[in-house]
Amino acid sequence: MRNSAPLVLFGGTFDPVHRAHISAARAVSKVLGDAPVHLLPNAVPPHRPQPTADAEQRLAMLRLACPGHPSLIVDDWELRQQGPSYSLKTLQHFRQQHPEAPLVFMIGADSFASLHHWHRWQDYATLCHLAVVPRPDSKLASGEVLAAFPESDAYGLCGQPAGLRLMLKRPFLDVSATAIREALARKGDCPALDPAVSAHIRCHHLYNVPTTTYSTDHEAP
Ligand code: ATP
Repeated sequence: MRNSAPLVLFGGTFDPVHRAHISAARAVSKVLGDAPVHLLPNAVPPHRPQPTADAEQRLAMLRLACPGHPSLIVDDWELRQQGPSYSLKTLQHFRQQHPEAPLVFMIGADSFASLHHWHRWQDYATLCHLAVVPRPDSKLASGEVLAAFPESDAYGLCGQPAGLRLMLKRPFLDVSATAIREALARKGDCPALDPAVSAHIRCHHLYNVPTTTYSTDHEAP
């Protein structure tokens, strides 16, 4: 088996980026030998409601959350494309740029459970591996998706360009951007955010943060 350095792609709305995103990206990087992880905020997510913060703000928050984590690369590629941000298009682009490398598309277990609804998901197996991060209360993935991506380990993924699935056991964090946005609107802060991201949100009055007072106690989102 030929082993080569993998490249990891992590797409999302990041509205805002939070602790679980960063922990998950670092965990996948680590298990794959400190592989670089491209965090790709999407412009027009096709499978969910549109983001609250605009693209520039979501990108700015990602840039504030990533310093200190050398394997994490904030990448605005999807934001520079026209039309819906289909992951397939992103995968095709990176595959073209890196024809031989193991390409790993990382997703949370909630997204994995709905992968069979995604645009041309069957094509993914020819383009990338999957790394699935656990998430509380996620449903099981469909049998077709499980069969399309046989489960393997980090060594297996590094030995071929695409088609396998790595299931991580941790991090297992009950954090969501939805709950964070609600906490921000209620009390102006949330411990699941990087302090630099919190400061940016307050400074730019994002997510309806109260303008006059806010609490700094550490209540879970
Ligand atoms: P929202 O609450 O607005 O839906 P989110 O917290 O799910 O947002 P997204 O930016 O939509 O964050 O997610 C990007 C990716 O990160 C998705 O693959 C999602 O499954 C994954 N993800 C987000 N939060 C977690 C978490 N707590 N554990 C594991 N994966 C997560």
